[in-house]
Amino acid sequence: YVKNRGKNGYAFYDGALSVPLQHRADMERLLRHALENMEFELHYQPQISLGSPRIDGLEALIRWNSPVLGRVAPDQFIRIAEETQLIIPIGEWVLRTACQFIRSLHENGTDRPIISVNVSVVQLIGQRYVERVLDILRETGLEPRYLELEITESMVIESLDLIADKLSRLREHGVNIALDDFGRGFSSLSHLMRLPITTLKIDKSFIEQIPESAEDQPLTGLIIRLAQGIGLKVIAEGVETYSQLDYLKKYDCDCIQGYLFSKPLPATLARDWVRTASLPGSISQ
Ligand code: C2E
Ligand code: MG
Ligand code: MG
Ligand code: MG
Repeated sequence: YVKNRGKNGYAFYDGALSVPLQHRADMERLLRHALENMEFELHYQPQISLGSPRIDGLEALIRWNSPVLGRVAPDQFIRIAEETQLIIPIGEWVLRTACQFIRSLHENGTDRPIISVNVSVVQLIGQRYVERVLDILRETGLEPRYLELEITESMVIESLDLIADKLSRLREHGVNIALDDFGRGFSSLSHLMRLPITTLKIDKSFIEQIPESAEDQPLTGLIIRLAQGIGLKVIAEGVETYSQLDYLKKYDCDCIQGYLFSKPLPATLARDWVRTASLPGSISQ
């Protein structure tokens, strides 16, 4: 019904599903519909620790299979979900689903992996966010130490004071806090150190530089050492090649996440990977 608006006579969206949608009201309606009709799904991308090679974490990444639009990538709808506040119920669904899933994995054996969930600033500054997270943890029976919330650098720059207190309260309960996409923004270290961050995720743009530019290689390594020096766990995002892997091993990066090991997987496949715990040879060595 987005396609042709009848007597209003406009069509903002025509045919190809990759065309960006501009019309907020229609998008909002589609997102509400999606929430009511369970059109969302979570995929899970493994985070591999390099020290003792194994799956240490899974990052939950939302997928939207719309009967109207087809598959819509998160980058195409998260912003609109934020602008319309729909990210609050969507984010709660993500958190509950992710916690339930990881809890079901723990019931079948080990106490790994942990689950990483992306959080929008709109959720964080919303009312009773801390209480909502703790409620969901209680409801699903997942211990807080198995949950990691990922926040982004841009979010931190914009709303440091608003979110520092809420994150500290979550941290006091044992929830882990990761700074996502590090290096994409321009946050100062003094700012970052005011937050109770436990994990630093180095952005793909830094990892991409590793094989090509010898000059930039020490920079990524220095970031790893600096972050570890202040007690953070470091995850490299977007690892795609063995030369990147070698470099990250050399600099003792804690974890890698990227297509080299695995794309984000549907729940059943992620469960199989965790259960069989097999890793590609070059990562295992
Ligand atoms: P992110 O949190 O930084 O997630 C990593 C993104 O990089 C994912 O894209 C993942 O599929 C992709 N990726 C992982 N490894 C590789 C690789 O080796 N190469 C390349 N080229 N890409 C890789 P995705 O799933 O499309 O998500 C995009 C962004 O949307 C996420 O970036 C996150 O900011 C946001 N997002 C996803 N799910 C959620 C959610 O549940 N809530 C919120 N608020 N944001 C979400
Ligand atoms: Mg993330
Ligand atoms: Mg990221
Ligand atoms: Mg991101």
